[in-house]
Amino acid sequence: MMSLLELKGLRVTYGGDVPAVRGVDLSVSPGEVLGIAGESGCGKSTITNAALRLLPRSAKVEGQVLLDGEDVYGMSFGRLRAIRWAEASIVFQGALHSLNAVQNIGRQIAEPILLHEPKTSRREADRRVGELLEQVGLPARRARDYPHQLSGGQRQRVMIALALACRPRLVIADEPTTALDVMVQAQVLELLSGLVRDLGLALVLISHDLSVLGTTCDRVAVMYAGRVIEQGPASAVFDDSRHPYSAALAGAFPRVGDERFRYAPRGLPGDPPFPGDLPGGCEFHPRCPVALDGCATTEVALSELSPDRSAACVRAGETGLDLRGAR
Ligand code: ADP
Ligand code: MG
Repeated sequence: MMSLLELKGLRVTYGGDVPAVRGVDLSVSPGEVLGIAGESGCGKSTITNAALRLLPRSAKVEGQVLLDGEDVYGMSFGRLRAIRWAEASIVFQGALHSLNAVQNIGRQIAEPILLHEPKTSRREADRRVGELLEQVGLPARRARDYPHQLSGGQRQRVMIALALACRPRLVIADEPTTALDVMVQAQVLELLSGLVRDLGLALVLISHDLSVLGTTCDRVAVMYAGRVIEQGPASAVFDDSRHPYSAALAGAFPRVGDERFRYAPRGLPGDPPFPGDLPGGCEFHPRCPVALDGCATTEVALSELSPDRSAACVRAGETGLDLRGAR
């Protein structure tokens, strides 16, 4: 099936010298869930924003973003405005807190509908709002509620209803469950996968938590320092990681008290590098439990292990390596 979203050699550089995304190839088709995993700062939100041309002017974008085969960076602004929300929409990271506090949620969901489909009557928009709320598991009457009357999980459902308001075919959800507690997280993920099934959406699901993606996605791409370092079927990447970084993410454990990284990669010393100051060779080598001498000097490209799996590690093909260390 033709990809709905395709990134080809995507590179994003902030301010001339911060290469936040360094040559990423990814695609997602209707009815498919693609997961993107990686620690904070690896470039996940930059990809999200690059996909719909929402990056600040200081960001230089190279490579290609194709939405249903159409070059997003070759479009007129009019065309771009038309496709945002109606063809592709984003549940932004942290957007839970961006609902307008003084407007009921029904009006907020109706707004993009009235904007994108100006012929819609107020009454018809209200009917669609009710339908959307029910689609995300909230009773239609909650349209009259204000954001403060909703729990965190309910607000995230409203954000998803907002993303669906103009019937897009692609939804990108950037850390949609990070701020929610574990039970509610599971419900929101179940809602998202249900929507993919029922509406045939293409969904890009972004999380720093590989275990969340392992159970929800069809395919997963693991990012490190602006690159994809492993890609494959979600369960395979999670259960049988071929890159030591994915293995560490898969073995992540909850770190109490730190909201930013609620999951810390197990046994990994140090922090991910700042994109403006990358180590030479394999960018993961300073933290790698199985690094060889050459890893400090020789770059490693993402290469195919089997038709649906690839990894960027010289030891990816070795069996019997204890990549997860203590696990
Ligand atoms: P993630 O979503 O994976 O946490 P981001 O895409 O937000 O990662 O950030 C990737 C890198 O780009 C980080 O080092 C971040 O500091 C940098 N960055 C993000 N946005 C900007 C910006 N507007 N200007 C400069 N640097 C940015
Ligand atoms: Mg982010």
